[in-house]
Amino acid sequence: MHTAQFQCIKCQHAHPLTDIVYNCSLCGGLLEVVHPQTTFTAHTPEAWKQRFESRQGGTPGPDGSGVWRYREWVLPEATDDDIVTLGEGASALTRAHILSDRYGIDLLVKQCGHTLTGSFKDLGMTVLVSQVNRMRRLGHDIRTVICASTGDTSAALAAFGAAAKIPTVVLLPKGKISAAQLVQPLSHGARVIAIDTDFDGCMAHVQRLANEPGIYLANSKNSLRIEGQKTVAFEICQGLGWEIPDWVAIPGGNLGNVSALVRGFENLRDAGIIDRLPRVICAQAAQADPLFRSYQKNFASLEKITAQPTQASAIRIGDPVSFPRAITALKKANGTVSSITEQQLTDMAIEADATGLYLCPHTAVAMAAVLQHRKADIITAGERVVVVSTAHGLKFTEFKQATASNTVPGATHVHRHTLVDVSDVYDRVREAVLTTI
Ligand SMILES: *Cc1c(COP(=O)(O)O)cnc(C)c1O
Ligand SMILES: [Zn+2]
Repeated sequence: MHTAQFQCIKCQHAHPLTDIVYNCSLCGGLLEVVHPQTTFTAHTPEAWKQRFESRQGGTPGPDGSGVWRYREWVLPEATDDDIVTLGEGASALTRAHILSDRYGIDLLVKQCGHTLTGSFKDLGMTVLVSQVNRMRRLGHDIRTVICASTGDTSAALAAFGAAAKIPTVVLLPKGKISAAQLVQPLSHGARVIAIDTDFDGCMAHVQRLANEPGIYLANSKNSLRIEGQKTVAFEICQGLGWEIPDWVAIPGGNLGNVSALVRGFENLRDAGIIDRLPRVICAQAAQADPLFRSYQKNFASLEKITAQPTQASAIRIGDPVSFPRAITALKKANGTVSSITEQQLTDMAIEADATGLYLCPHTAVAMAAVLQHRKADIITAGERVVVVSTAHGLKFTEFKQATASNTVPGATHVHRHTLVDVSDVYDRVREAVLTTI
């Protein structure tokens, strides 16, 4: 029997995946989904690769999903009827040729923002909502699913909830998310509650609300999300012909995603497909960098901070729920942590966009961290580096507008995208065009 279960990261006490439980019932520790080792050794590495390759991205149903393609390692008990998929994952892995040449490395971008709601949150949410769907079918009392969000989690929860006809509620920090992120859950019919606080404040309310009967918590504290998000590691590896890069850089806020990334590579190693883990860079915004502060003190215990405003609004988190998971993950992956200023992320986005990328501010944070590591020669010449792009740049038009008009708080830059305004006279138009050649 392949039975995945929740297991406490402190005392290893186990709970079935159908329990409504977010912390260990014995010691209060965080839970993680643990699969028995036999899950990964049930087939030879070659047989696993063939099986995963036989499921084509772009086809309808679970096989076309970049998450459910790996379903045996994600949520083996979910049936086709349980699964709520919106074609998540199966995203492009694009080579950044120009930046690669410029920095003397092989730089690739995993485009996790190329998905229904425009962020990687779809990867975890398909798993969580599918499990809720399964539990409701089994007769559990779940009347609504709730989350606190810096914008992208709520969009994903609302979309998958809508697709499964499961009511959803999202708590958002008033005035601290982009217009696109606010419109998404409203369009999907979620109950959207704006609160005059920050993400950490919303999260505190959600933690209390999740004790009420009928309410299920969808934040990444719920480790079902990690099971979906870890598939990014599978896709990166498969996309590179079942090889791993030297480094993977990822932005970190609540720190679920960096934990998921490392877990995914561990699963690949458990199956014998790879024999080591890539090194991982977790990149934070300097305005909200509690993990970086801990890292500088040799991963000392978390000192919560009040996160300050940053363009990278989805990682504006001062009290990250998955802090203990992230530390364990980073130690396993010989990881490093960076802290990136508003100036650095803005410069990086401008530079990258001019090469045909379109970085969301969080991805800019991760890519700036790569640049920092390269300049310090920690990433050495010729190494292969994958940046996990966590959202589509189109969700952050306010940021792009601010960079275009040189009004990003905390950053100044000479580069301006200038709009050429000419009168409706052919000669003027011609003149404006010919100056470019
Ligand atoms: C949620 C999010 C992150 C941070 O992920 P965590 O798991 O909270 O560390 C980074 N970038 C974007 C775009 C996000 O939506
Ligand atoms: Zn415990």
